[in-house]
Amino acid sequence: MGRAAAGVAVGVAAVACAVAAVAVGRRIRSRGKWKRVARVLREVEEGCEGSVGRLRQVVDAMAVEMHAGLASEGGSKLKMLLTYVHTLPNGTEKGTYYALHLGSTDFRALRVHLHGQQSSVLEHEVEQQPIPQHLMTSTSKDLFDFIASSLKEFIEKEGNGSELSPDRRRELGFTFSFPVKQMSVSSGILIKWTKGFSIVDMVRIDVPACLQEALARKELDMRVAALVNDTVGTLALGHYHDSDTVASVIIGTGTNACYLERVDGIIKCQGLLTTSGYMVVNMEWGNFWSSHLPRTSYDIDLDSESPNPNDQGFEKMISGMYLGDIVRRVILRMLLESDILGPISSKLSMPFILRTPMMAAMHEDDSPDLREVARILKDILEIPQVPLKLRKVVVKVCDVVTRRAARLAAAGIVGILKKIGRDGSGGITGGGRRSDVKMKRTVVAVEGGLYSGYTLFREYLHEALNEILGEDIAKHVILKVTEDGSGIGAALLAASHSSYNVDTAKML
Ligand code: ADP
Ligand code: MG
Repeated sequence: MGRAAAGVAVGVAAVACAVAAVAVGRRIRSRGKWKRVARVLREVEEGCEGSVGRLRQVVDAMAVEMHAGLASEGGSKLKMLLTYVHTLPNGTEKGTYYALHLGSTDFRALRVHLHGQQSSVLEHEVEQQPIPQHLMTSTSKDLFDFIASSLKEFIEKEGNGSELSPDRRRELGFTFSFPVKQMSVSSGILIKWTKGFSIVDMVRIDVPACLQEALARKELDMRVAALVNDTVGTLALGHYHDSDTVASVIIGTGTNACYLERVDGIIKCQGLLTTSGYMVVNMEWGNFWSSHLPRTSYDIDLDSESPNPNDQGFEKMISGMYLGDIVRRVILRMLLESDILGPISSKLSMPFILRTPMMAAMHEDDSPDLREVARILKDILEIPQVPLKLRKVVVKVCDVVTRRAARLAAAGIVGILKKIGRDGSGGITGGGRRSDVKMKRTVVAVEGGLYSGYTLFREYLHEALNEILGEDIAKHVILKVTEDGSGIGAALLAASHSSYNVDTAKML
């Protein structure tokens, strides 16, 4: 070999070595990045851990807090609000009843025809209308005059099919999805406005009275028979179809639950008497808190950056409003700490940009190359070309966050069952599982887009119920989906609280 040729060979070898060194360096750096991705994933998995042992602690805490909230006003973060609903519809109701649902920027009027037999499809008509923006911050008179006029138009359109005898006033269930302190089944004062409404003259004023006065001004002869919370409407609808229904849970944008409590268990309200001996209690369970809840730094950040810090802690770990944002926070930290994709898009730093249905679509992507995950990361979060391995990690994050939410919701449900002695343990003082306890068939009505639209969430919730209760007890607990408890359920409550009911002592 000539000297020149030898020199070329040495040069080539040196370049090859350098290239190899760069490749090795890159591989080592990449391995370091993946390790950091794996660490963030491991931490979030550990933080969200919801073993059956821990869930049972949450069950106990829920039952104890329910007791505390019933014992004294402010005794727990659970408000345990009295609803004065003591008679739930049972399918025998007859006639035409109305409902009005005011809970967002739209309001709905419904007319429901009841024929006295539990029918699987309730015959009803609905009309939905947006509330003009200016009325949301105007006066109570302006808002309710508008609603009363719209209701009058709705009623004037009705043909002869209303089945209302001429000597009967129309009766209405009014679902008002804002915090209210009820004084009776048909009266209650507004505690505060939420969701963009701010009508100052209405705070601490009787809400049904405002509506009733507006109806009188519009010469509409109609009685507000019941002021209804969505959850209570759901329980009413569930009970109408199945009289073993004892509780209801809403798992949608937010989450809440209510159940039938024995009146003598409501210690904070001495001397309360109902004909049935029971009353529906609105738990406002979104505000439940316990040190046993598996909380991560992502939850702490989400809470402290929210408009209501230290509020609705349970809801922030469970409901559709928040799950997507928890996942976004995990992905953000993962990419920041690992630097695996280099600079990250500013979209990923935007709160609530990843909505829960999108997160669910990633979670439920069953294509082999996770095409939907890639699409959502690119289109919504502006993160293009995410390698398959990382897409799999994203799916895992969705799984961890959703599984925790579903398992906590299940623990909450069992907490209610425990409080009312339907968990097979002999109640809160029963101390442990008893095989000799005869379990009654127990139905919980469930409503909300997260539960009904997200299959994996639903499956995880059912799986956790089985784990906590054990299959022998769990087979007696049935979760039944209802639809439109806040509309139809409210009309049913107007029926069961009608002033024309001869038998007000109807048994639950
Ligand atoms: P709301 O709770 O506002 O009365 P819904 O009960 O319909 O309304 O619940 C809607 C919420 O449920 C959405 O905000 C979303 O968070 C969640 N959701 C709806 N569909 C799905 C879905 N397919 N997957 C996951 N979450 C869903
Ligand atoms: Mg709803």
